[in-house]
Amino acid sequence: METSAAAIGAAGTMACGEASGAAERAAEGEAGTMGIKLDKAFVCFRIGTPLWMPDDRFAELMALFEKYKGVTDEVTFFTSETHPPLPLATLEERTKLLKKRMAAARALGYRAGINPLSTMGHHEENQPNSLNEPYTRVTSLDGNVSQGSFCPNSDGLREYARREYELITEAEPDYIWVDDDVRLMGHMPISETCFCDTCLSIFNKVHGTEYTRESLGQAFSSGPREEKMALRRAWLQHNRDTLTRLFVLIEKTVHGIKPGLPLGFMTGDRFFEGYDFDGWAAALSGPDGAEVLWRPGGGNYTEASLDGIADKAHAMGRQTAFLPESVVCIQSELESFPYQRLKKSTQTTALEAASYIAGGCTGTAFNVLSMYDEPLDEYDALVARLARTRPFLDLLAREFGRSRPAGLYSGWVKDTFASGGPDGDWFHNGDGSQGITNCNEILSTGVPAGYSAPYGRVTALCGESVLALTEEEVTKALSGGVYMDGKALTRLNELGYGELTGFSVEDVRHADCIEEFTGHPLNGTFAGRRRNGRQSFWKDPTYCLALTNEKAEVVSRVVDYTYAETARCCVGVFENRLGGRVCAAGYYPWVQLQNLSKSSHLKSVMRWLSKDTLPGMVESFHRVNIWVREPEPGSLAIALLNAYLDPAEDLTLLLATERDEARVVDMACGETAVRASGQDGPYKRFVIPEVGAWDMRCVVV
Ligand SMILES: [Zn+2]
Repeated sequence: METSAAAIGAAGTMACGEASGAAERAAEGEAGTMGIKLDKAFVCFRIGTPLWMPDDRFAELMALFEKYKGVTDEVTFFTSETHPPLPLATLEERTKLLKKRMAAARALGYRAGINPLSTMGHHEENQPNSLNEPYTRVTSLDGNVSQGSFCPNSDGLREYARREYELITEAEPDYIWVDDDVRLMGHMPISETCFCDTCLSIFNKVHGTEYTRESLGQAFSSGPREEKMALRRAWLQHNRDTLTRLFVLIEKTVHGIKPGLPLGFMTGDRFFEGYDFDGWAAALSGPDGAEVLWRPGGGNYTEASLDGIADKAHAMGRQTAFLPESVVCIQSELESFPYQRLKKSTQTTALEAASYIAGGCTGTAFNVLSMYDEPLDEYDALVARLARTRPFLDLLAREFGRSRPAGLYSGWVKDTFASGGPDGDWFHNGDGSQGITNCNEILSTGVPAGYSAPYGRVTALCGESVLALTEEEVTKALSGGVYMDGKALTRLNELGYGELTGFSVEDVRHADCIEEFTGHPLNGTFAGRRRNGRQSFWKDPTYCLALTNEKAEVVSRVVDYTYAETARCCVGVFENRLGGRVCAAGYYPWVQLQNLSKSSHLKSVMRWLSKDTLPGMVESFHRVNIWVREPEPGSLAIALLNAYLDPAEDLTLLLATERDEARVVDMACGETAVRASGQDGPYKRFVIPEVGAWDMRCVVV
């Protein structure tokens, strides 16, 4: 087996930037070590053509990295500054120069690789200087095309990609990254693709059908729900297979020239493509098990919304959830396009890198430098800051390795996209975030995040997305802790799970509903407190609940503006015959949760649902995101993000540990020891020294 550099050491650790054979890592994972140990984070900078093509600018760039030696281990070169594929002649010229640039970077101690910005292409820009062959463009259901992107199933594009990756491999990179143009949704100016004649004929042949674009579009969005869902699931599988075919071609091309060369793929939340990250990783690894790299992505280009940091960290969690243990180098896409320094501070950039490791990455790919051939002095302070943050990123990678956080899981699955608009239009239904980002506000009150069923201590079921679950997935969820909204309850009852849910929806109201907490023990001292989502402003129907089992209990009722009861129950709890615990939450279950009474009540509910199996949580009233891992039996490693512009004082954690001391490490790697100051059930209580505004701590027990 080809091993490109130093592999796993005797102690089972693996150094950053040192690729090793996948089989060795897989064996490590199977040995039950709960993932590979890392010495440090995987860090690279991605470099645009304006910074590496001119001799002087490239020299200046390398001088900047040398000035802040250690800020990065790898220099990754883009082939293009625009998104449609390059003409092969242009690419050939650039790969010749890249070969020299990579050698120069290696001479300074960096690993160096190539990141073709496009394979199939993305968006319409710079068309006069881009690939302009009569190959089929990606095509939408209504027959429109994107001139900047070619059908990945077309013979023309596949032959182009084969030659493209030959040229790139011949430049002798240490690794190659396939970029996120390899996707089927969002090639502007069109949205969902590819429905060209070739793609339709592939689908029709596999399924024995005779769909045209028109009849397929109708079948996606009309007729009986079960038939629609089956067809949509089949189309998602078709999309998975389309990308797999392209990856197999790339793998064979690259490894035919350079066996074992690590191949990486940059993703986003690829729901329409079928989210087949484990399958695609296997395709890129090839029959000989070459190393695969991953780069989870998603837009958070500026700091206009700071919540984008935590939201993207959760997207990182999803994008790493299905990756096999053998994928060790997971660099978050950290992008500040169009790279105007005043649009994102050094603090935000550094915090993003740390937060994305908290979510599930093991490093970062910084795409933060200029997109112009211009002096780099305005980026000096940024690179300096990232160099200062590097030890903290290394610490997070060391403490977390490839272990996964456990907590509240939003209930998403690979087929979630199939459930959008189950009774109408598949593509324009407003269900886009259901079952995906629904938990984000709950998570920002200090409930720990988990990103897949095995790491879900409580499963959140949202709206129509339950229709994407298999019978086995629903039964499994209902045997554990489930927090569900009124629509999900309705769908589950329709599907025949009423005996396990304990509630039904008896009315849906759109005005003047206010939640009032009853004297139920889960409400503690907050009995009688109210929460008003103000339906006149923020539209969200109230699902009034009927109790369908004598063991079901009312936790909240509905009152109006006279505070008279208008419905007996809008939030209730029930333990079913499988031992599963259910909270049916019919009133603003996903938002308007951030006052003291509701956030405290929610934490009580989550603890009850999980039977106290959450590995830890924030007990105090703070706007904090928390990721809790158990890297080894008996140890906990926690990341805390104070997502607030006030410092977090007296931040109190409940951690499921026998130990009495925790290490708290700040982003400058300053360390404090904290003694446990009490106990609550299986949890020890730790009060964390003040955490600054939009700042992170790593806590280790
Ligand atoms: Zn096509």
